Amino acid sequence: QGLVEKLDKVVRQYPDFPQKGILFRDVHPIMSDPAIRKELQDYYATQYQAQDIDVVVGLDSRGYYFGVPLADRLNVPFVPIRKGGKLPGATYKIEYAKEYGKDSLEIQIEAIKPGQRVVVLDDLLATGGTIGGACQLLEKVGAVIVACEFVIELVDLDGKKQIPQGVKYNSLLKY
Ligand code: 5GP
Repeated sequence: QGLVEKLDKVVRQYPDFPQKGILFRDVHPIMSDPAIRKELQDYYATQYQAQDIDVVVGLDSRGYYFGVPLADRLNVPFVPIRKGGKLPGATYKIEYAKEYGKDSLEIQIEAIKPGQRVVVLDDLLATGGTIGGACQLLEKVGAVIVACEFVIELVDLDGKKQIPQGVKYNSLLKY
């Protein structure tokens, strides 16, 4: 049985969360299962170990679950992109539209140097508002976005169109 099949078995869906009409896909069972969690971490490490990644970026907050272990494996910095108002010091901030409502994202300006090669991780790609905003922030700090990685993609929402032209993206589970 491959990784995708294993992930599909453990990811649970919750109707009407956090709002009526939303079918929420929960990645937390991946975190609760050490064997699947490790297999996913191994997969990401294999994908990115030869890609000259300087920084791993994780999106608030479930992107951290997958981003920090990858940064460990690659022995490079991990940098969070957080929801607005959470990061101290000099930041860039942008507002973006998401699947349910509006939000803002922020990055610490000094965290990434111009020209550094980054991979961005999040748990799920829906409308793409979040990753689109994150990519705008990364462009502001001058990062080179090597790829955007998602455990899950909600294909019908076509969020990939929010990823800048020419930036690679990948998702494992497609619903
Ligand atoms: P988007 O901005 O692409 O519409 O939404 C993606 C963001 O919202 C991601 O950061 C993701 O964590 C969160 N999100 C939206 N829908 C879901 C869902 O069904 N399951 C999970 N785990 N996260 C979701």
